[in-house]
Amino acid sequence: MQNLDITIVGGGSAGLTLALLLAPLGLQIAVVEQGAAPTSAELNYQRVSALNPASMRLLNHLGVADPTMAQAAAYSSMAVWEADSFGRIEFSADPPQLPQLGWICDNEGIRQQLYQQLQTHNNVQCFFQAKISQLAQTEREVLVQLASGDILLSQLLVGADGVNSFVRQQQQLPLTHWDYQQQAIVARIHCQEPHQGVARQVFLPTGPLALLPLPDAQQCSIVWSADTARAEQLLALDNNAFNQALSAASQSALGCLTLTSERHAFPLTMRYASEWVRGRVVLVADAAHSIHPLAGQGMNLGLMDVAALAQIIEKQLQSGKALAEPRALLAYQRWRKAEAQSMIGTMEAFKRGFSNKQPALKLLRGAGLLLADKLPGLKQKLMAAALGNSGDLPDIAKY
Ligand SMILES: Cc1cc2nc3c(=O)[nH]c(=O)nc-3n(C[C@H](O)[C@H](O)[C@H](O)COP(=O)(O)OP(=O)(O)OC[C@H]3O[C@@H](n4cnc5c(N)ncnc54)[C@H](O)[C@@H]3O)c2cc1C
Repeated sequence: MQNLDITIVGGGSAGLTLALLLAPLGLQIAVVEQGAAPTSAELNYQRVSALNPASMRLLNHLGVADPTMAQAAAYSSMAVWEADSFGRIEFSADPPQLPQLGWICDNEGIRQQLYQQLQTHNNVQCFFQAKISQLAQTEREVLVQLASGDILLSQLLVGADGVNSFVRQQQQLPLTHWDYQQQAIVARIHCQEPHQGVARQVFLPTGPLALLPLPDAQQCSIVWSADTARAEQLLALDNNAFNQALSAASQSALGCLTLTSERHAFPLTMRYASEWVRGRVVLVADAAHSIHPLAGQGMNLGLMDVAALAQIIEKQLQSGKALAEPRALLAYQRWRKAEAQSMIGTMEAFKRGFSNKQPALKLLRGAGLLLADKLPGLKQKLMAAALGNSGDLPDIAKY
């Protein structure tokens, strides 16, 4: 039996970042992950995330994902437009104050670097390929028993175990969810034309298609969200037919597009836990909320959750208080629920706004995009949100 301060269930980007944020506080920490440890295998950019400057400030502070390293492809412009319409909006970096708008990072690459940093802290133990056989809490502690026989007793347990969170279900934390009735197809592609560091997204009547620039000037990662029937059709196509459909859907923005990896599909569901805290158990990141990938904000939101929780825990310790005090955990919940709700609201407005196929609404959307592109106040607000600079940021992510 081990007496610890914190057990984190889930060793994805959120769980490992939290462990690394808390490690310098000298706490005894366990990370319990059902999958394998990140390896130093070459990155394949099969699953990527667009990280905004706020997330990158946080990761850089932890010695991870230095933007000068080849693992991350910086993008300096974003172009968003609607197919068969005149509506288009563009955002550009403004050096030297704003050299980049964001970075396309390999998800496994981020985990690799986080894990590498974590190994320098001997107060953090990672249990990989671990199965939880029992989870129970009393007023004083949380007990986790692993199938290996290890027993972990902690003051606080953090559920960072992703969209189908075992911790959330086991603690019966209520969940609001709805099916977007779309699937996101992700793959790596070769582009005939160089991407020039521009992240592109075209809104099609069946859903948005994003072309995200990778370190190679002619490679992109696609996230093609499409209504379920269309997604199934696209998945059933052979590579040649898929390449043709993809090139047409992108409106030849980068010439002919060719698959260079397998396609993987993710059903898209909005999930939002209405309670994130139960006693000594707290949820973070995808375990608490998952949103449509159309604005590439899910991981950014989760990283801000863990930075906020770490900040609150540090303040508790500095003032000599217990780290799992209910008041502190509820302050975390209030803070981050407000941010998640605001993001979910914005995503819904975008998703619904762009999925309505009525010609009059399409005309309004086109005019709205053009207007937003020309009005400096509105454009600045949209830009601040995309850069992760709006809302109540944790100190470590502030500009
Ligand atoms: C198609 C797509 C595109 C996206 N694009 C972007 C983007 O551009 N930008 C962005 O910011 N976000 C993006 N996201 C969202 C982003 O991928 C997620 O928000 C992020 O990966 C969530 O991180 P996490 O650590 O919370 O969860 P996960 O990465 O899911 O990690 C959870 C971990 O918990 C482990 N686990 C689960 N159950 C247990 C258990 N019982 N015991 C132990 N371990 C367990 C899992 O093995 C996993 O390692 C996208 C999502 C999708 C689907």
